[in-house]
Amino acid sequence: MEGFLISKTVFASCELGVFDVLLGAERPLSAEEISQAVGASLDGTQRLLAACTGLQLLNTQQDQGRVLYSNTEQASVYLTRSSPLSLFQSIQYNSRTIYLCWHYLTDAVRSGRNQYEKAFGVSSKDLFEALYRSDEEMVKFMQLMNSIWNICGEDVITAFDLSPFKVICDLGGCSGALAKQCTSAYPECTVTIFDLPKVVRMSREHFVSEADQRISFHQGDFFKDPLPEADLYILARILHDWTDERCIELLSRIYKACNPGGAVLLVEALLHEDGSGPLTVQLYSLNMLVQTEGRERTAAQYAALLAAAGFTNIQHHLTGKIYDAVLGHKEID
Ligand code: SAM
Repeated sequence: MEGFLISKTVFASCELGVFDVLLGAERPLSAEEISQAVGASLDGTQRLLAACTGLQLLNTQQDQGRVLYSNTEQASVYLTRSSPLSLFQSIQYNSRTIYLCWHYLTDAVRSGRNQYEKAFGVSSKDLFEALYRSDEEMVKFMQLMNSIWNICGEDVITAFDLSPFKVICDLGGCSGALAKQCTSAYPECTVTIFDLPKVVRMSREHFVSEADQRISFHQGDFFKDPLPEADLYILARILHDWTDERCIELLSRIYKACNPGGAVLLVEALLHEDGSGPLTVQLYSLNMLVQTEGRERTAAQYAALLAAAGFTNIQHHLTGKIYDAVLGHKEID
């Protein structure tokens, strides 16, 4: 019932920069010092700091009758902007976009449709036109996509031995975070990031450096334009955006473009076969309802989609983290 109180406490603390101020100070600070540094009322700040302490995001110590606050390790690692494992941008996207869509969850369940129109006044006829309704929104979405692969990208990329696949295409590769994990895990591969033209432009400008010579870009619409030939196609968090029909359409196009002996790697959060969990994935599936045309699926459901497109020898691997891997092969003729 009150889970949202916790989310909003984390959102507000990050947005105000509480954890950044404490990181920068390099010493414990009082509520007065923090409220001044973040430009907020003393009373409000004191209550926020108390809640963060209860959530074990802040440590407290007494100093001559004053309470001093410092970040817990978890807060320093995940909630500060500058940390290499920062979730700051994801938290902002949750706060400013996803939370607003979830306001209409009841309507989404009633209608079985996403709630972009109600939440943002934009038609969701073209899903990614709605998501990318401005350059600013697109960058925020790309930052959301980017952060998680610093935390669990290596697990999904090494779930199977992908070293036999030298030419890799990351379809809907977005900011290139998973492509970078791939080139560092497999020194002999090259990765082409295929994405919509404006995403490719932004990714080139802000996310992937030219020094990264094993990563290149290809712009296009994966439902319409020719796909580059490759030994392996990565589809990370792509199929969960779309209906079964659209998924089979896309997988069939991939099957045609794929070199014989090649494969497709799906990176998705897998539901248990009996639907009993994991809770995070069950909640993500509701998130897909309020935000997209898709859903989260079980390994068997993904296997059925892959088989319908022609892929064989389908295996899945649970990583124990949020995202898992499913691999399907195209037989050598
Ligand atoms: N694979 C990335 C990851 O896991 O971080 C991004 C996943 S994001 C949910 C979906 C990606 O698919 C976005 O980068 C989006 O721009 C891209 N995309 C959506 N529709 C597309 C289309 N028709 N053609 C090419 N890319 C598309």
